[in-house]
Amino acid sequence: MQKSGKEEIVLKGINASAGICIGKAYLVDRSGVDVITRYAIAEKRINAEVKRFKSAVQYAKSALRAIIENSSREVQKAVILETQMALLNDKMLYGRTIETIETERVNAEWALKSVVGRIKAAFQEMPDAYMRERVADITHVSDLVMRHLTGVEAPDIARIDKRVILVAHDLSPADTSQINLERVKGFITNLGGKTSHTGIIAQTLEIPAVVGLETATQTIHNDDVIIVDGTDGVVVVHPTEKTLLEYEERQTRFERYKAVITRESHLKTETTDRRHFDVLANIEFPEEVVSAINYGAAGIGLYRTEFQYLGRTVFPSENELFENYRDVVEVMAPRPVIFRTLDINGDKAIHSDLSHDEQNPALGLRAIRYCLKRPDVFKTQLRAILRAAAFGNVRLMFPLISAYFEIQLAKRFLDDAAASLAADGLPYKRDIPVGIMIEVPAAVVMADVLAKEVDFFSIGTNDLIQYGLAIDRGNKQVAHMYQPLDPAVIRMIKHTADVARANRIPVHMCGEMAGRPLHAPLLLGLGLDELSMNPQAIPLVKRMIRSISLAESKKMVKKALSLRTAREVFEVLRDSFGELVANHRRDMQA
Ligand code: PEP
Ligand code: MG
Repeated sequence: MQKSGKEEIVLKGINASAGICIGKAYLVDRSGVDVITRYAIAEKRINAEVKRFKSAVQYAKSALRAIIENSSREVQKAVILETQMALLNDKMLYGRTIETIETERVNAEWALKSVVGRIKAAFQEMPDAYMRERVADITHVSDLVMRHLTGVEAPDIARIDKRVILVAHDLSPADTSQINLERVKGFITNLGGKTSHTGIIAQTLEIPAVVGLETATQTIHNDDVIIVDGTDGVVVVHPTEKTLLEYEERQTRFERYKAVITRESHLKTETTDRRHFDVLANIEFPEEVVSAINYGAAGIGLYRTEFQYLGRTVFPSENELFENYRDVVEVMAPRPVIFRTLDINGDKAIHSDLSHDEQNPALGLRAIRYCLKRPDVFKTQLRAILRAAAFGNVRLMFPLISAYFEIQLAKRFLDDAAASLAADGLPYKRDIPVGIMIEVPAAVVMADVLAKEVDFFSIGTNDLIQYGLAIDRGNKQVAHMYQPLDPAVIRMIKHTADVARANRIPVHMCGEMAGRPLHAPLLLGLGLDELSMNPQAIPLVKRMIRSISLAESKKMVKKALSLRTAREVFEVLRDSFGELVANHRRDMQA
C-alpha cells in the first residue's frame, strides 16, 4: 500500500523506448475531434464544402511542414515527412473524401470521418504488423485536418510547465515533436506497437516510453505518481515505498549503462595492437536504424529485407520498397548499408505464393532460389535497391548461394534492373559492391571460385551451422548440438576467410555468432574484417575488441584449430578471455 492509501497497480504494455522514469502523471486531453455530426449540404454549397476541406488539408500540410522545419531531429523529420505528408496527398484519403462530399452531399467532417473509418478498417485487417500500425499515422493526419475543420485546438504539450510523465490515448509525431525534454520525463500511451512512430520518436528522444497499454488513461489520473519502465514495458501506478526504492536503484544502473554506451560508441574499435575493425548492426525494419546509431554501429551489416514482405498477401511495390530503403540509406550515410536480397521461405515462410507444399522447406525454394524463380519479385526489389543506392553508401548481397550459376544469374538480373531504370530515366547507382552470404557448405568448398565473382563475403553462421552440422536451427530436440564453436564450424570460417584474403576481398560475419563478446578474439584471429550483430550486442563486442590484441587472438586460434570438440574450444576461450568478458559485463551493467 502506498502512503496515499491507494493500491499499487502494475500495467503491462509494449517496451517502446528503454529507460526508467518516476514522476507525476499528466493526462493529455485529445477529445474534441471524435464527436462529429453529419449534416446535409445543399447542392449549390457543395463546391464551397469541397473548398473548405481542401483548405483544411492545406492547413494540415503547413502544420506538418512547420513541425518538420522546426525540428532538429533528423529521423523524426523523415518519419513525419515520408508517411504523413504522403497520406495527405494520397487519393485514398484526399480523393475519396472529396468524392464522398460530392456524391453523398454531406459535410466535410462527416465525409472525412467515414473515409478514414474505412481506410483504418482495411489497414487493421492487414496481416502485416507494420502496416497495421500505420493506422496511427492515418489517425494523426486526419486529426490535423479535422481540427481545422472543427476549430478544436490541439493539445498544447509545449506549454507544460512542470516535470511530468505524459499519459495519453495516443500521441502523434506532431505531439511528440513539441515535447520539451526539460519538462517531459517519459510517456505512456493506450495505443501503439513496437514499430509505431511514437515509440521510434521516444527512442530518438531517448526518453522511456511504454505503448499499447490499452487502459492507461482510464486507470491513471493527473498527478498520480507513476513509474515507467520502458525497458521491460511495465508501468507501476501508486508504487509502494519498496517498489520506488527498487526502481530508483534500477534507474541509476540504467543511467550508468547508458552513459558508458554513449561515451564508448564514439570510440574507435581498435585492438590494443592498433588493428581497426568495424562493428555493424543487423536490422529487420527501417526504424531500427535509430538503435543502430545509438549503439554505435559503423553501418548496417545485414538488412533483412524480407521482413517487409512477410505475412502480406500482396508484396510491396517498388516505390514502397524504395522509400523505405532510401530512409535507411539517408539516415545511415555516409555509413554503409548492406542490403541482403529477399530471404523468404525456409523458416520465414510466406503464406501465399507457394502453391505446392514443401517436404523440407530449409532445403527448398528459399532465398536466392526463390528470387531466381520469381524474376518479377526479384527485379522489383533490385530496382528499389539500385534507386536507393543513389542516396548513400549501399552494398548488396545475395543469400544462400550454393552454386556458381546462381551468382551469374543474380548479377544478370542486377544488370537488367539497372538497364530498365536507365530506360525509365530514373536515378540509380549500379556501381556498388556486390557480395554473397556464405551459409551453405558448398559455398565454403567453392569459395575460391565464388570469390572471383564478388566484392565481399558475409558469413551467415545461423545457417552455416544448420547446414554444416545438419542441425535444424529451430528444432529443440537437437538444439544442444547447435554449437557455433564446433571445430567443423571454425574450420569452415577459417577456410572462407583464408580464401577471401587470398583473393583480396573482405570477409564479414553477420550471424548470431558475431554478437557474443567471447567469440570476438576467435573471429578476429580467424581473419574476419567486419562483424555485424543486433544493435544491443554492439557495445560489449566493441569493448572486447578494444581490450584484446590481434596477435594474441591469432595465437589462441592456432590452439583452437587443433581441438576436437566445441567444449574444448569454449574452454580455451573461457580460460583466456572469460574474465575479461565478465568484467566488462559487470562494468557496463552494474
Ligand atoms: C545467417 O544465416 O547467419 C543469417 C545472418 O541470416 P538469417 O539469420 O536471416 O538466415
Ligand atoms: Mg541465413
